Amino acid sequence: MKIGVLKETKLLETRVALTPDTVKQLLKKGFEVAIETEAGLQSSFSDQDYVAAGASIGSKTEISQSDVVLKVNSFTEEEVGQLKEGIVTISFLYAYTIPAVVDALKAKKIAAFSMDAVPRISRAQKMDALSSQANLAGYKTVILGANALGKIFPLMMTAAGTITPTKVLIFGAGVAGLQAIATAKRLGAVVEVTDVRPETKEQVESLGGRFLMVEGVEGVKIEGGYAKEVSAEFLQKQKELVESKIKDADLVITTALVIGKKAPVLVSEDMVKSMKKGSVIVDMATESGGNCSISEKDKTVVKHGVTIIGDSNLPALLPINASQLYGTNIITLLMHLADKDGFKWDMEEEITKGSLITHNGELVHEFTKSILN
Ligand code: NAD
Repeated sequence: MKIGVLKETKLLETRVALTPDTVKQLLKKGFEVAIETEAGLQSSFSDQDYVAAGASIGSKTEISQSDVVLKVNSFTEEEVGQLKEGIVTISFLYAYTIPAVVDALKAKKIAAFSMDAVPRISRAQKMDALSSQANLAGYKTVILGANALGKIFPLMMTAAGTITPTKVLIFGAGVAGLQAIATAKRLGAVVEVTDVRPETKEQVESLGGRFLMVEGVEGVKIEGGYAKEVSAEFLQKQKELVESKIKDADLVITTALVIGKKAPVLVSEDMVKSMKKGSVIVDMATESGGNCSISEKDKTVVKHGVTIIGDSNLPALLPINASQLYGTNIITLLMHLADKDGFKWDMEEEITKGSLITHNGELVHEFTKSILN
């Protein structure tokens, strides 16, 4: 079976779906691999590196004829148009946001698997690309914030005086937030954290952060370990608590997400106005509207004396690690579905059912259907 990797075309993307190391793993299992010319260049992998790993190199047209085509970002309509009928694709899709591409996939009878739809269950941990990428992104928020701040993180006692540690305030202690806490602590900051899920308190404290406990957690609905609904009363109490903290913070990092909803706005313009001049906000949620009301997607802006960073593709700033982890996620899913002789999936199996979007000319994914139909 021939696996093809297309070069990413999205603006500011630097990742690639397979690294030379992940190519080697597929070859060992008996698959053939072909990579589009220069697909790995921005992740620091040359065509020669892939050839040395055992892959062949081909044009976009040639790669599009493979039995399985892999990407990081979703396919465009034009890319789907070039694919062979009836093949398998695996990529991030966020299918419910791209109805025209879903129609194109249906028309070509493509079995399209979406990495963002892989269920977050323990059996699928090694395929969980949302987590692998959010983890790296959480690290990068701190590095970007530290770089934009005019001060250092740790306490430093010098002959010329004592420098007090930087104060970091983090919204959301999920995958990205926990990595941001760990990174900020390693650099010597004092870290405070707010989350709607009380069970994150222990995780935050084990990393050395201080958890800001909001009273009235009964206003939060949790499902499968994720925040599903947060009441207006709870958000009001949280606002009152963080208003007093944000005035003192040097760096604010926002990673708050409520599954299936637009990002909750937790930092208002008035809160930004109350912050110290020279402080920094890194808003991770700009792709889904932003946790800060005045952040701008993919821009760094200075408003009311505060630098607000809104990069929506932080993993692309760490393409070597991001491609390495994504590559492992994607080949683990692939090997779950197939061996060298072909695909052998069971439509009712949880991981397959959770991540298969279109099949045999039909939209088969329940969540995507509920939004698009
Ligand atoms: P996650 O689901 O693991 O964590 C989100 C956390 O936010 C959860 O712990 C949840 O309880 C918490 N939360 C919900 N409402 C809150 C509130 N009102 N106050 C405080 N916390 C609240 O998600 P993740 O994988 O860590 O990703 C975090 C965010 O970053 C998402 O919006 C994701 O789309 C985004 N993301 C951005 C990039 C980027 O490059 N900018 C990369 C990866 C992920």
